[in-house]
Amino acid sequence: MDKLRVAVLGATGMVGQRFVKLLSDHPRFELEVLAASSRSAGKKYAEVVHWCIEGEIPERAAGMRVVEARLEDVKHEGDVDLVFSALPSEVAREVEAEFAREGIPVISDTSAYRMEPDVPILIGEVNPDHLGLVREQRKRGWRSFIVTSPNCTSNAMIIALKPLMDEYGIRSVIVSTMQALSGAGWTGVPSMAITDNIIPYIRNEEEKVEREALKILGRLENSRITPADFKISASCHRVNVLEGHLEAIFVELDKPAEPEDVAETMRRFKGRPQELRLPTAPERPIIVRDEPDRPQPRLDRYAGNGMSVVVGRIRRDPVLRNGVKFLVLGHNTIRGAAGNAVLNAELAEAEGYL
Ligand code: NAP
Repeated sequence: MDKLRVAVLGATGMVGQRFVKLLSDHPRFELEVLAASSRSAGKKYAEVVHWCIEGEIPERAAGMRVVEARLEDVKHEGDVDLVFSALPSEVAREVEAEFAREGIPVISDTSAYRMEPDVPILIGEVNPDHLGLVREQRKRGWRSFIVTSPNCTSNAMIIALKPLMDEYGIRSVIVSTMQALSGAGWTGVPSMAITDNIIPYIRNEEEKVEREALKILGRLENSRITPADFKISASCHRVNVLEGHLEAIFVELDKPAEPEDVAETMRRFKGRPQELRLPTAPERPIIVRDEPDRPQPRLDRYAGNGMSVVVGRIRRDPVLRNGVKFLVLGHNTIRGAAGNAVLNAELAEAEGYL
């Protein structure tokens, strides 16, 4: 079977370069077009990207000409079957709709459409059935659809919560985050602000974490998602770490559970991507570590090629009823962004949506 030809919008950014790395040697997708802002358009990718992830810029991508992230420019550069979007969300709103309207599916990492009632926020292991929601987007007059990924912080938390919700039920969640610098993009946090420091505020982040999780963990019935019925309280903080968001999570369960049982429930967790053996699916979505000082961003962010989340320090919470607490670590630009989107595209293809 021929590979699907893909474009990456926002290819020069922190998430965009992860896409370029993941797609440069992908068994089902072929990088056809790289797009960014008018500042980069017309130049070679290697000249304009601020490459700051491990390894060299993939050779073919390095020599590709960047075009402006607009439908007509992308189409002019090459035929594409699918678009991955890592644009700033203000720009994504209009651009992603142009592609979907034209019949080119958009697999997005941006927040532009996440909370629209007919757009799924998809984590392959958690809510693969929500993909069915994309049929509703035809009512907008679009010939294709947009599928989104969660915000990078929500992603790791939700993967850890899903097996607990299924096994014990959840009454409430409190999460306190330690988020990496790459989560804010290339121009995100000035070094003078973050060196020797922690910034206890990330604009719009807490609202996203509190809302998105309930949609993703919700139920799809009659073409509508009914959000999960519990409350989440988030406090989000930027720390001086390059990659990998660490989150302290406190969960009030419906039923009591021993920490060892919680660990076993998480270790057993697998989903549709593992069943289908999708190329980007990690063998184990959740890796549970027993050492008292893990997970750590520097040591654990590449677990499962950056697609597994790593949980540790599972223990009872003495304050909450049926409370457990633990830490979870997720690679923010892989599982929390580009990797999750590539997995979503693999799932959409395997399930016949592309
Ligand atoms: P970034 O490093 O700032 O990159 C932004 C990208 O968008 C660059 O390629 C930039 O191109 C392009 N761009 C900027 N303004 C544009 C415009 N007016 N028209 C067309 N392209 C434009 O940001 P990022 O961290 O990769 O984030 C990208 C998106 O992913 C955002 O929506 C973000 O919320 C989301 N996201 C990020 C993460 C993360 O961990 N970083 C995780 C999940 C989701 P130039 O180089 O030409 O300026």
